[in-house]
Amino acid sequence: MPESSASTAPLPAPVLRRREHCPGCHRSSARTLHKEPLDSPGISRYMREHYERRVERDFSGYDYELAQCEHCGLAYQAQVPTEELLQEIYDRWLPATEREAVVSRWGLDDYRYLAGQVEFMLDHFRMRPSSIRALDFGFGWAEWAKMAGAFGVNVCGAELSQVRIDYAKSVGIPVVDASRLPDGEFHFINTEQVFEHLLEPGEMLQRLGRALTPGGLIKVSVPNSERSIRKLVGSGDFSRLDDGDIMAIAPFEHINAFTHASLSALGREAGLVPLRPSLRKLYNSSSGWMEPKSALKTLARPIYRHLYPKSTFVYFARPA
Ligand SMILES: [Zn+2]
Repeated sequence: MPESSASTAPLPAPVLRRREHCPGCHRSSARTLHKEPLDSPGISRYMREHYERRVERDFSGYDYELAQCEHCGLAYQAQVPTEELLQEIYDRWLPATEREAVVSRWGLDDYRYLAGQVEFMLDHFRMRPSSIRALDFGFGWAEWAKMAGAFGVNVCGAELSQVRIDYAKSVGIPVVDASRLPDGEFHFINTEQVFEHLLEPGEMLQRLGRALTPGGLIKVSVPNSERSIRKLVGSGDFSRLDDGDIMAIAPFEHINAFTHASLSALGREAGLVPLRPSLRKLYNSSSGWMEPKSALKTLARPIYRHLYPKSTFVYFARPA
């Protein structure tokens, strides 16, 4: 139970628990970047709107607390939901994320970009697609896995949500148990918007790193929270942030707040090295050049994603 609620104890059982160590490097020297009651006006407004008034709990006595590890620099929420609350959040609070709602927002550019990532992977390994073993870790609605499968890649996935597992199986994507990944198995592991949610991102990256073949690659793509942290620390008040700022450091959900530096450190701790892809390969894997609107994006994206030094989309390689 958080210290601040010890005397008032407003809730029958604690719904948050404290992380005693940095979830990236497991060291225990951290400083508090920001602390604010969970029922402050700024956080209450966000909760009402983001969860569309589905939250019935009273969070008085609890704090939103953003800490930063003094060793690896990772910023993280020091108080995280217990298993029970996590279940409630993902089952009852979250806005509908049915597959129809998600794919109805996807356009040609999104699928092209996904295809470009798969082409980049194939170009990198220069092997027949069917001899590449890939894992889509935390696959959601399996869009990446399906795209890789369409290119002939030998792809499987891991996911927690049963309805998504059932969907993936129904479209022919084999699902494996994430807690029993064999060592040295995969040439490529895809993770898209996964690591910001994990209680133990450092341990998970080590485990996934071991599951790579020597020379294998893991893609880690997470929200970049640099601007959000700067604004929150600068203003000292959640109500000064807009929804875009809040997303990267969202209470309860995005419990690890990465920057390029802390993501790179996470890779180093796991014995992985960042890959700096060549622009030739990135451009070679991009289409949409002949449309003025998408050509600009096609030109700029490889630069800000992979050459601009502050990106939080990184390919890490397991040393050969
Ligand atoms: Zn750390």
